Amino acid sequence: MKMKYLLNLSIFLVMFQYCAVTSNQSVSVSKGTASELQSIPLAEKGPIVFKKILAADWLADRDGLINFKDPKVKAAGLQPGKEPIQIYYYVIDHPKFGRFVVDTGMADVFRKDPKEWPVSGLVASQMNIPDLKIHTTIKEWNAKDPKKTDGVFLTHMHLDHIFGVLDFPAGTPIYTGPNEPGDSRFLHMFVQGTTDKVLGPGTILSELNFTGKDGSKINMIDFFGDQSFYVIYVPGHTAGSLAFLVKSTTGTQLLTGDTCHTKWGWENGVTPGGFTKDQEANEVSLNLLKQIAAKFPKIQVHPGHQSLTPALPAK
Ligand SMILES: [Zn+2]
Repeated sequence: MKMKYLLNLSIFLVMFQYCAVTSNQSVSVSKGTASELQSIPLAEKGPIVFKKILAADWLADRDGLINFKDPKVKAAGLQPGKEPIQIYYYVIDHPKFGRFVVDTGMADVFRKDPKEWPVSGLVASQMNIPDLKIHTTIKEWNAKDPKKTDGVFLTHMHLDHIFGVLDFPAGTPIYTGPNEPGDSRFLHMFVQGTTDKVLGPGTILSELNFTGKDGSKINMIDFFGDQSFYVIYVPGHTAGSLAFLVKSTTGTQLLTGDTCHTKWGWENGVTPGGFTKDQEANEVSLNLLKQIAAKFPKIQVHPGHQSLTPALPAK
């Protein structure tokens, strides 16, 4: 009896400790050229036509978005509560290499009754569905601005960043940071089934490689090799979080992903709260993004879920 109890207990613990964010297959891929902050040219403009698209408005817990243990939070008098957030995705149109999208907005299936969503009942109950206001889906946007998407980058694999994957044609390359699909967390026990459904059954993820041939750590990849689009490895919020630096026709753009969710977090240099897996690593990564931003006086910074400039009008 005791043996059986111990066996059950150990199976239980193993499941909890090793539940990856998805059971979808992933492969490691090496792309672009290794780069570093010092080698990024100072010119603010580049060849990419950049668009930021507001997919949805939502509300989230402020103490998930902002680290309330930071003394600046108390000094500013911030209180826990609901914070308005947005779900964005970003379009990267490169004149030579085609169209890429960072994060995925919302798929068309989320226009349907929530009972038909590819989301488990438990996840749906935690989603605060009545406050989710969808402005556009990937399908609707594609109908207005049709062009083949050559690849999708996920800043990370939390559900609010992968809700649109189903609207991209099967076989579209989906890039993540290293170890992101296998990232283990207690929470994933409850979301893995939903993550798998939201990604679609055949979706194979491509984990970008940030290790040099000599085993050294790489922080940035010049993805196209023409100094127009840099993928930045910013672990902390999740194991394989990514940020992006874009040299666009309208200036330099920094997409922080959820290394920083909010306007207040960016302006005060405060990391996210309970939504982040590793606070220390998140802080190191946020400092790296601050260093990058400091290099470009006219840079436009885009925190994961809010805008520094007035919010985009809903379409
Ligand atoms: Zn998010």
